[in-house]
Amino acid sequence: MATSDHLETFQEQGIVFSKLDAVINWVRANSIWPQPMGLACCAIELMGVGGSRFDIGRFGAEVMRFSPRQSDCMIVAGTVTYKQAGAVKRIYDQMANPKWVIAMGACACSGGMFRTYSTLQGLDKIIPVDVYLAGCPPRPEALLDALIKLQEKIKTEHSAKNLFKAVQ
Ligand code: SF4
Repeated sequence: MATSDHLETFQEQGIVFSKLDAVINWVRANSIWPQPMGLACCAIELMGVGGSRFDIGRFGAEVMRFSPRQSDCMIVAGTVTYKQAGAVKRIYDQMANPKWVIAMGACACSGGMFRTYSTLQGLDKIIPVDVYLAGCPPRPEALLDALIKLQEKIKTEHSAKNLFKAVQ
């Protein structure tokens, strides 16, 4: 066990002790690169979070990427029709692990008002969803709240174990 003398020496040298999970999760949670999947009107509110008024950069998630290779959080904003569902699934599959999904708005969560032959009745019918964000449309503040919930979820993951499994 470290004595107080040891701790003082560690502090002077800038050494900290932590769990690997906590370090990996802290880094991942605060450097999310979203993939904006704007499919209908909710996408306008999604665009709003990038502006100075809402400033998603405060949460480390301002690097929006339109390439699945460079993003780890798909934000599906809007109505998912069956015609689009295949493309959404394909792009999700192309994202590297670890990856997360936010279903933004009633349409993405459940089909919303569109109980029709052409509309997917919930994004989780084709890909796993981490955070469901209700509203029609949800405001940008609500999307930021969903992002914070996702960060909290990421901080509970067993990342180190999964990382070791992946490299074995
Ligand atoms: Fe449009 Fe409402 Fe559906 Fe969002 S939830 S895509 S605002 S109809």
